[in-house]
Amino acid sequence: MSSSSKFSKQLASDAGIVDLMADLGHALNVNPDMLFLGGGNPAHIPEFEEYAAKHLRALIDDKDAFHRLLGIYQSPQGSEVLIRNLARFFQAQGWPVTERNICLTNGSQSAFFMLINLLAGQADDGPNRKMCLPLVPEYLGYADQGLSDDMFCSVKPKIELIGQHRFKYHIDFDALEITDNIGALCVSRPTNPSANMLADEELDRLGSLADQHEIPLIVDCAYGQPFPGIVYGDQSTRWQANRIFVLSLSKLGMPGVRTGIVVADQPIIESLTKANTVVSLANGNFGPGLMNAFLESGDLAPMCTDILLPFYQQKRALALKQIDEQFNGLDYRVHQSDGAFFLWLWFPSLEVESADLYQRLKAKNVLVMSGEHFFFEHAPSWEHAKQCIRISYCASDEVITKAIAIIAEEVRRVQSPL
Ligand code: PLP
Repeated sequence: MSSSSKFSKQLASDAGIVDLMADLGHALNVNPDMLFLGGGNPAHIPEFEEYAAKHLRALIDDKDAFHRLLGIYQSPQGSEVLIRNLARFFQAQGWPVTERNICLTNGSQSAFFMLINLLAGQADDGPNRKMCLPLVPEYLGYADQGLSDDMFCSVKPKIELIGQHRFKYHIDFDALEITDNIGALCVSRPTNPSANMLADEELDRLGSLADQHEIPLIVDCAYGQPFPGIVYGDQSTRWQANRIFVLSLSKLGMPGVRTGIVVADQPIIESLTKANTVVSLANGNFGPGLMNAFLESGDLAPMCTDILLPFYQQKRALALKQIDEQFNGLDYRVHQSDGAFFLWLWFPSLEVESADLYQRLKAKNVLVMSGEHFFFEHAPSWEHAKQCIRISYCASDEVITKAIAIIAEEVRRVQSPL
């Protein structure tokens, strides 16, 4: 398409997330032989699907509920029943929120599109405002969502080396400068891609900085608490004014229902509700219908703690064991795995860039994520940004084991001799 509109330039150009989803779509829908350790699709967990099927059947069997599922547009803020149940659920977690603090969107990706452009970008007066990412690598899906140029700024982390083969990122607070042109701070927790979990103290310190500068702190809880709760340590997630928590039903196991949930101060919720109605008219009903059933039946907590968490813990253990066995003799480090369902691998002696490694692996039928997309403006200039890949451990044990062996073989070929 030939178009000179700014929108077309911003949103219809090549973007990391478009390539990522194209690879994901091809591997999961067209070429199932691909060993898929790529995108952020959750694992297929039959026990979870049994719960979902039970509740979906009940919705279909109830004539009135079925009609509401198919035949009614949701109100602008989202399903009233779900918002009421969510408010009760959050209150039970100790979050002092009401129904006025919650709205629904069609997936959290679209919530981010609206939040990023509501809080950053071209200002009526004064300088353009930026979304600040206090620690990269950070979720590549935020990039390219801005409708103005140059909407992100980010800070390189401090790197703690742990033992011979592990490491961990920490926020470099000395380098984090909140200037007048920053509109909001944003972190994912656990972090996609590194599986890092910002410590409670780091989050509190970020929150205090945000309060001091009267800007919101966005916490992307796609993988974290309160649901789906894929968190391996004991960090907490507390709600406070001036924080925006973005949740999703995707990583529970339902990316197909496209449901995002935003919990924030009332003025933000009001703005988001209007923007969402302009862009989407209304949200889909399947996600809210199922989530409502999970909450009303009391099934949500056992699904998260008895099914999802042990499942991902076992997969993580398998992937780490395979890595430590198969990578024997390689120069590699794995980021400390605190949550989500990824491992973030760093090859300090790689002689090619991670983008090349990604292509070489793809040619061998193994799909991973190349790391440079997650480093925002630091990608071109920082060596570390070209030495990392992300692998998901959602595939079958057999695929994980086979793919890790192929990664080991390929890295052995392209790393400098130790
Ligand atoms: N945030 C993070 C950190 C993600 O990894 C993803 C998807 O992978 C999203 C947000 C968007 O998820 P969804 O739009 O499916 O809710």
